[in-house]
Amino acid sequence: MAKLYFNYSSMNAGKSTVLLQASYNYVERGMRTLLMTAAVDDRAGIGRIASRIGLSSPADIFRPGDDLYEHIRQAHEATPVDAVFVDEAQFLSETQVWQLARAADRLGMPVMCFGLRTDFQGKLFPGSQALLALADSLKEIKTICWCGRKATMVARLDGSGRIVEEGEQVVIGGEDAYVSLCRRHWVDRDLGRGPGEPA
Ligand SMILES: [Zn+2]
Repeated sequence: MAKLYFNYSSMNAGKSTVLLQASYNYVERGMRTLLMTAAVDDRAGIGRIASRIGLSSPADIFRPGDDLYEHIRQAHEATPVDAVFVDEAQFLSETQVWQLARAADRLGMPVMCFGLRTDFQGKLFPGSQALLALADSLKEIKTICWCGRKATMVARLDGSGRIVEEGEQVVIGGEDAYVSLCRRHWVDRDLGRGPGEPA
């Protein structure tokens, strides 16, 4: 049976890098992968998955309300698909996660989703909540806080580098940046010392 996978992490853990490498492993063996990413992710322009270390690949986009089972089924009918990769999976709706599960179950292909577990207020994203509930396989992609402990939380910073406490879960086109912290330093709102600053 093909499985539905959820690989989750905080920010800047290298999710897109892991996704692109895993997809490449299929392509290298002559197999076809279908890549998808959220329309709200415009770091690399619409329809592109880009990693911070320079790898990138074209991708189909998904929007709220899109039927992802139908999208995959039609792509598979045109040219058989061996595996599906979904980046920014935190932006999926619960319905779309069910559609991806259906693609794994009915079309027989692994569907690998990559996304953030929680937002800057420590709350689950809708897509992540559904994936944590429904995925066959859960795996954490780890990154570290400035202190060296595992970073499980995400803080949003405003244009001047201060931690934002309130606001929308997703800011499109904003100048906000994100940083991953361990839970203790997230609670303490402690960003540590910047690179190059004295101890
Ligand atoms: Zn820490």
